[in-house]
Amino acid sequence: MTGAVFSRAAGRDLPVVAGGNGAELFDTAGRRYLDGAGGAIVVGIGHGSAEVADAIAAQARQVAYAHGTAFTSASLVEYAEALGPLLPVDDPYLYPVSGGSEAVETALKLARAYHLARGEDRSVVIGRTGAYHGNTRGALDVSGRAGLRAPYQPWLGSAVHTTSPYEYRCPFPESHPAGCGARHAEELERTISAHGPDTVAAFIAEPIAGAALGACVPPDDYWPAITAVCRKYGVLVIADEVMTGFGRTGRWFGCDHWGVRPDLLVAAKGAASGYWPLGLTVCSGEVHDTVQAGGFVHGYTYSHHVVGAAAGLAVLRILQRERLVEASAERGAQLAAELRAELGGHPSVGDIRGRGLLQAIELVAPPEAGTPGRALSGDLAPFPRSARVAERVVAAAKERGVLLYHSTGCADGTNGDLLVLGPPLVITPAQVSELARSCAAAIREVLDN
Ligand code: PMP
Repeated sequence: MTGAVFSRAAGRDLPVVAGGNGAELFDTAGRRYLDGAGGAIVVGIGHGSAEVADAIAAQARQVAYAHGTAFTSASLVEYAEALGPLLPVDDPYLYPVSGGSEAVETALKLARAYHLARGEDRSVVIGRTGAYHGNTRGALDVSGRAGLRAPYQPWLGSAVHTTSPYEYRCPFPESHPAGCGARHAEELERTISAHGPDTVAAFIAEPIAGAALGACVPPDDYWPAITAVCRKYGVLVIADEVMTGFGRTGRWFGCDHWGVRPDLLVAAKGAASGYWPLGLTVCSGEVHDTVQAGGFVHGYTYSHHVVGAAAGLAVLRILQRERLVEASAERGAQLAAELRAELGGHPSVGDIRGRGLLQAIELVAPPEAGTPGRALSGDLAPFPRSARVAERVVAAAKERGVLLYHSTGCADGTNGDLLVLGPPLVITPAQVSELARSCAAAIREVLDN
C-alpha cells in the first residue's frame, strides 16, 4: 500500500499548486488564480517573498531548533522588541506557538492561571454565539458554532455564550442603530451575575468577527461598554486577532479601531503570512508577572520556535516598510465601493460589510426560496442550506480563476451563505477591480439563471 494524503476536499480533485507571486497563485497545469482570500485569510505580505524565504533559510542554517526551556534566541528577542510597540496590550509579553488554536488554548490557560495565582478559583469563560476560535477542545468550547460543536458535545460545555453583535440582523432592533452596544453589555453583565462574578475568568471575542461570521463589525459603542463590564467584575478580556491582526482590517490590530486594550491577545495567520505556522499569545505585563509568580507550567514542543520568530520578524519588517496596513485600509475601501457598485442592487445580496481588506457578502433568498420559520428583522431569509449557494459561488469564481472563502454560519447561530474576501494586502488596484468584477459575475452566474 502506498501512502496517501487525507484530503480536506472530500471527493473533489484538487489542482496542484506550483507557485505564487503577490496576490496570484499558479497550478501545475499553468492556470493562474487571483487569491481573493489569502488562503483562509492568511497571506498578508503576498505570495513568493524571497526575503521571507531567505530569512527562514538563514535562521535554519544557523540553528533551526533549540528547546524553549533551555535557550532563547536573538530572533525571538528582536521579534518581541519590534512587535511590542505595535500591540494594543500594556507592557506586552509574547508567547509564540504554532497557530491560532494553540494560541487560544494558551490564552485560556493563562486566564485561569492568573486568577489562581491571585487566590481566585475562576474557570468560566464567556464566548459568543456563532463565533469561531479554533478546532482544539478548549478553543472549540469557547466557540459558538453549533455545527462544529455538535459531534464533540460530550467533551464540551464549560464555556457559556452571549449574543454576537450582528448589525444586519440586530438582536436588539429596538436599540438599533445607536445603543445596541449597551444592550450587549447588559446581557454580558447578566450572564456574569448569573454564574457568579467570582467564577468568571475571561470573555473572548474577535474585535471584528472574521470569516466565520462574515466580517461583522460591531456598533461603535460595543467595545467600550463590553470592556467596562469586564473590568467591573475582574473578568479578563481576550481579543482573538487570529484573523484581524497584522493589518487585515486596515489597522495593525482590530482592537485599534476602538482603542481596546485587552489583557490577552491571540494572533496567527497574518503574523507569518503563511510562510511559517506561527501563532502568538500576548499577555499584559500584569498577567505575565502574576502567572510567573504563581508558577505557570505550559508549553508545546514547537513554542518559541527560533525559525518561526525569524519568519515573523521578516514579515513584520515587510508590513512596515511597504506600508501594507495603510494599503489594507485603502484597497479595502476600494473593494467595498466596487462590490457595492457591482452588487448593491442585486436582490440576493443582503449585506456587504467589513473593514480594510476583510470584506464579506451575505447572500439572502427571494422570499419564496427562503428558509421557513427564521426570525427576521425586516430583511430576507437565507437560502436553504441544501442549496449550497455559497459553495457554488466559490466554485464558479474558481472556474473564473478567482479564489474566495466562504462560511455558512451566521452571528445569531443560524445558517447562511457568506462570501469572505481577504486578499493579500499587496493586491494592486487593478486586481481589486478584477476581484470585485469576478465575484459579482460568479454570484450572478449562480443566482440569476
Ligand atoms: N480564531 C479565529 C478568529 C480564526 O479565524 C481561526 C482560524 N480560522 C482560529 C482562531 C484558529 O486558528 P488555527 O486554524 O490556526 O488553529
